[in-house]
Amino acid sequence: MSFSPSNAVRAARDDTLSMDAVARAIRIGEPGSFAALGTDFVTRLPATPTPDPYLIAISRETADSLGFDASLAEGDKRAAFAAYFAGNPTRDWPADAMPYAAVYSGHQFGVWAGQLGDGRALTLGEVEHDDARLEVQLKGAGRTPYSRMGDGRAVLRSSIREFLCSEAMHHLGIPTTRALAIVGSDLPVRRETIETAAIVTRVTPSFVRFGHFEHFYSNDRVADLKTLADHVIDRFYPQCRQADDPYLALLDETLRNTAQLMADWQGIGFCHGVMNTDNMSILGLTIDYGPFGFMEGFNAHHICNHSDTQGRYAYSRQPQVAYWNLFCLAQALVPLFGENLPEEGRAERVVEEAQKVMERYKTYFGPALEAKMRAKLGFETAREGDATLANELFEIMHNNRADFTLTFRNLAKLSKADASGDAPVRDLFLDRAAFDAWAVKYRERLAHEPRDAAVRAEAMNRVNPKYVLRNHLAEQAIRQASEKDFSEVQRLLDVLRHPYDEQPHYEAYAGLPPDWASDLEVSCSSS
Ligand code: AMP
Ligand code: MG
Repeated sequence: MSFSPSNAVRAARDDTLSMDAVARAIRIGEPGSFAALGTDFVTRLPATPTPDPYLIAISRETADSLGFDASLAEGDKRAAFAAYFAGNPTRDWPADAMPYAAVYSGHQFGVWAGQLGDGRALTLGEVEHDDARLEVQLKGAGRTPYSRMGDGRAVLRSSIREFLCSEAMHHLGIPTTRALAIVGSDLPVRRETIETAAIVTRVTPSFVRFGHFEHFYSNDRVADLKTLADHVIDRFYPQCRQADDPYLALLDETLRNTAQLMADWQGIGFCHGVMNTDNMSILGLTIDYGPFGFMEGFNAHHICNHSDTQGRYAYSRQPQVAYWNLFCLAQALVPLFGENLPEEGRAERVVEEAQKVMERYKTYFGPALEAKMRAKLGFETAREGDATLANELFEIMHNNRADFTLTFRNLAKLSKADASGDAPVRDLFLDRAAFDAWAVKYRERLAHEPRDAAVRAEAMNRVNPKYVLRNHLAEQAIRQASEKDFSEVQRLLDVLRHPYDEQPHYEAYAGLPPDWASDLEVSCSSS
């Protein structure tokens, strides 16, 4: 075969489109990476091979953010892509590319659970692209030393939900881990019934959880605790180095990001379901999607996790529980606080300073939620009484179980002048009189808004999504996928890529749940 320049160009291009190039791009143990922290933090081991994996769906945006060409998952390349992201390498894992599981501990449902760790997640390494470094992790690729009684697997149902929701949250503008792909296998997995296995490739700058800090604190390993905190500061919060106490500053940053996340969740009607400290990201990202749910008929005390019998993680409690979790983090960081203080009186000073930082939570959360609610109600200005008006809306939504997403989305149709545009919201309330009474006050408030109706509606539509991952939509995609028809997963992903846009051909995806969906339940034990 002659070797012409054009062949050479083509060969070079093909190389960037090969799985070998992907494997080379995912590096492990580079300076500054989590893996480089060493064996006190990670255990290196291969994934358990998954039989006959098939690709279910891929997120193009996540592929882009990694610098991977999404065509790698197309045509005759699909099988190799699926095999790689099932954790089945073509050759044995070279020792220097061996994936890892990380150790962490945590409080589960308010009780100290001791050591947990990546029981079914293996990190392949990090990709550096466009000045960002992103970790690439397989969830469900087999047992690890932290699996305890678990099988190291995740089922198709929960994997589809995690894949779709992490991408949906990203497009909603809510900080989250991302998903690159979902791969399935007919490997049977026992849960309440026999299901099949799937693996989600998760992508994020860091998977460090509050539980990582609790782990080293509870084992009295202060040097490791400091190594971990320094890693997080150097990589993600370098501004903390300028503070008098970088570790208090780290607590403060985490407090702020977590408070913002709670405002984001409350503002979109998202319930996480399992806010254990091992599921809390040090970067304030939504992480570990299990029995989550988007609120439909509004119930302030909604519990989306069937296993949460006490309602610890009910919608209304999320901001408070996050604060409780932040206390666990603060406690774990105590040995690092006040490094430069004299020994005499240090312990008291440190607790005092940490408490002062913790008190800032309300100054972060309150204004963040108020700003969110103001935007959702279409107020450009801030006026006294706005919070009351928002609370009154929530109260009548709660009493009427009005659909969260539709109520806010349709609010943009209300006219400042009269009730002519009320019907789309009003019809969501059984108690029309209660809605009408609220609408009078809302209109009075709108009278003070300088923006004209079209501009206000446009702004409201940027914060009140039309499309969220309703349980029945995920369920439909799951049912079809279990029959090997993956088109609905990809279609739903497409819909959720533009949650704030009108998508007339996808109108059905914005509607109320059908009757058959009323008894859908999700729990910890079905993941
Ligand atoms: P979660 O609440 O789902 O985030 O999981 C809590 C802990 O249990 C983590 O340490 C997980 O890695 C572990 N875990 C959950 N499911 C499994 C499983 N099927 N196999 C092994 N470990 C699991
Ligand atoms: Mg978890």
